[in-house]
Amino acid sequence: MKIYFVASEAVPFVKTGGLGDVSGTLPLHLRKIGLEVNLILPLYKQIQEANYSLEKLFSSEIIFGDHLLPYSVYRQENTFFIKQDDLYNRREIYNTPSGDYPDNNLRFAFFSLEALELINQLGGADIIHVHDWQTALLPVYKSIYYPNNPEKVILTIHNLAYQGIFTAETVPMINIPPNYYSLESLEFYGKVNYLKGGIIYSDYLTTVSPTYAQEIQTEPYGFALEGVITKRRKNLRGIINGIDYDYWNPETDPHITINYGEDSVFQKKENKKHLLAELKTGCSIEYPLLAFVGRLVSQKGIDIIIEIADQLPNLPANLIILGKGEKKYEEEIKARALRHPNNIIAITTFDEVLSRKIYASSDFFLMPSQFEPCGLGQLIALKYGSVPIVRKTGGLKDTIQDYHDKTACGNGITFENQDAEELMDSIKRALLYFPGESYINMQNIGMKGDFSWNSSAREYSSLYRQLTKNKE
Ligand code: ADP
Repeated sequence: MKIYFVASEAVPFVKTGGLGDVSGTLPLHLRKIGLEVNLILPLYKQIQEANYSLEKLFSSEIIFGDHLLPYSVYRQENTFFIKQDDLYNRREIYNTPSGDYPDNNLRFAFFSLEALELINQLGGADIIHVHDWQTALLPVYKSIYYPNNPEKVILTIHNLAYQGIFTAETVPMINIPPNYYSLESLEFYGKVNYLKGGIIYSDYLTTVSPTYAQEIQTEPYGFALEGVITKRRKNLRGIINGIDYDYWNPETDPHITINYGEDSVFQKKENKKHLLAELKTGCSIEYPLLAFVGRLVSQKGIDIIIEIADQLPNLPANLIILGKGEKKYEEEIKARALRHPNNIIAITTFDEVLSRKIYASSDFFLMPSQFEPCGLGQLIALKYGSVPIVRKTGGLKDTIQDYHDKTACGNGITFENQDAEELMDSIKRALLYFPGESYINMQNIGMKGDFSWNSSAREYSSLYRQLTKNKE
């Protein structure tokens, strides 16, 4: 079976978040179980500068809107790259500090159209698997230009909050006929919505956890698309993301000070000592370290972390935050760290090496998200023996079970509502367990858990087979 993944980011080439992790690592695991999987990405500046040995396949041009747009296709093993320097040869992927690129509508429409063309030029496929709004127009283009082609298109929604909504003037600029600007198609409150198009024109929809698959059919998780999604619920399934344990493993991670596993988890303290020394902080090594690693956006519950920050010095605990995102949050957390230099550390960059050191050094990992389609942070934290404290939503609800002392079951601490007081109560409850037997139980259960891609890759594979069987 031949499958093409079409995505706007994928590790190891380019990553801004969980989408990059999934589109890069799921193909590896699908290949391990015998599927032929190729990946198509835009050729961004950072990929060009990274010195991959890319082989040029061909150059061509198309009329896109009212421009003649040249492009070329490059390849490295199973990955194809679409090179169009005016659109992709830029410092950042989606935005600059002053906001989204104003031509993201053209950048990702062109990418979706050219990826579809490329798949056809390469002889077609059984399954085309697209991801999020950036590639959601591909099934729309397929319905226009290749309506009789047999391949099935699956759209995975990694985060419904991002839909690719642009002004109505976009339609003639992206080779979409005017009749697609209608309520039954791409129109959305007087604008054009790429993700809506993908939801309507894909053969099947998946999202990244069973709970999120239910939540997005309701307000407020549906972001005004709950009606459109509910109409397609028979063709919607939640498949939990995995993580790659070759990539995220404290026993082999080359970036942490001391490697450790389940039997040597006490070495986390040595990692903490080095991290605190490296960051030259006044934080005490004896205090449990709470960590947050994530985008600084309201989705991640950073507001309620900021709300409780001033109470932290009253607790026997320190907090480290690694996050990049909205300026107001970056400024707020830096101000809290300045106010409490012996309790709070704030770093506002994207730094994977530092994130690994934080997973390895921290005792608890905070994810008080408003909504969380799957969440990878808590899965990495489990593996690194950092006990998650999470709000019960989406994938957090599906992967973290609240610890019960009586039964000694559960891999973390959970709470119900997006509320600063509930978060604080959960932190206090977590600290009561630390560093006793209950804490060690939780930590062990977490480290032993299997959130690898094994079972999820098999679920995708059976979905692909189900869809191609229907075709025959
Ligand atoms: P999302 O995809 O919504 O951003 P996930 O939890 O699914 O959230 O994935 C986030 C991924 O990005 C994790 O691998 C996390 O470690 C990483 N990450 C987020 N922010 C940073 C940062 N500032 N520095 C390094 N890694 C980060």
